[in-house]
Amino acid sequence: MLPCSIVTLVVEDKSPSGDTITFLGTAGARFMVASQILASGGLWLNLSGSEILVDPGPGCIVQSTKRKLRADKLSAIIVSHRHLDHSADVNIMIEAMTQGGFKRRGRLFAPADALETEPVIFSYLKDYLEGIEVLQEGKSYSVGNVSFDTPVRHIHPVETYGIVFRTTEHTFSYITDSRYFDGLCQSYGGELLIINVVMLEHNLPIDHLSVPDAEHIIMELKPKVAILTHFGMSMWRAKPWELAQRLSQQTGVRVIAARDGMRFELSQLGNN
Ligand SMILES: [Zn+2]
Repeated sequence: MLPCSIVTLVVEDKSPSGDTITFLGTAGARFMVASQILASGGLWLNLSGSEILVDPGPGCIVQSTKRKLRADKLSAIIVSHRHLDHSADVNIMIEAMTQGGFKRRGRLFAPADALETEPVIFSYLKDYLEGIEVLQEGKSYSVGNVSFDTPVRHIHPVETYGIVFRTTEHTFSYITDSRYFDGLCQSYGGELLIINVVMLEHNLPIDHLSVPDAEHIIMELKPKVAILTHFGMSMWRAKPWELAQRLSQQTGVRVIAARDGMRFELSQLGNN
């Protein structure tokens, strides 16, 4: 007879939904992205049967095809903001999603700032899409069986919002680039937090989160798991995996440093 613990493990290991988050890259901000010491490319979500690409930074087409992720299966692309490390590959990803424009499909979500005065997407590609939706503060959107909210505008040089995703089984937040501000924590929640942590310390006047900010956010929100990503040079030099281990000890929350190509299965979060 099998011991109980083994039976439990087998049951938990079965992912009914197969929901996954793949980190195409973990580089953040200018120097890490320009050097490609770490890859960049965004997040590829497979949620409740829908595939959604978030923040297709430089190399997204390379990283996704390398990992056998098929753009022609995407239902949507979300650009949290117009900075290059979040949007550089959006045009090629739209072309790939729509099979070179021969198949009109998929939707693009982006703030007005990324679509209006100096659009991040070429105008000829707009007709390839089923639609473009403008991200706004406090609004809700849906793709297939996934809904998502953009609860609050972040403090960043361009218009941007973090995202709370809700699937049939799980809720998780993606806290994109921002300076820390009162109200950031209240806007996010869920079993999983993905936090863009560019800086080790907050000693530069830059609108990005640092490790002390991440610690504060994790302590406030107490998710089951927190994943750090979007690392700048100071983070990389400090070894993100060691920082994550230290944060786990300090917060009592399982904190993971994302790795290029890491696939996180939401079944690890257990049931609600
Ligand atoms: Zn940015």
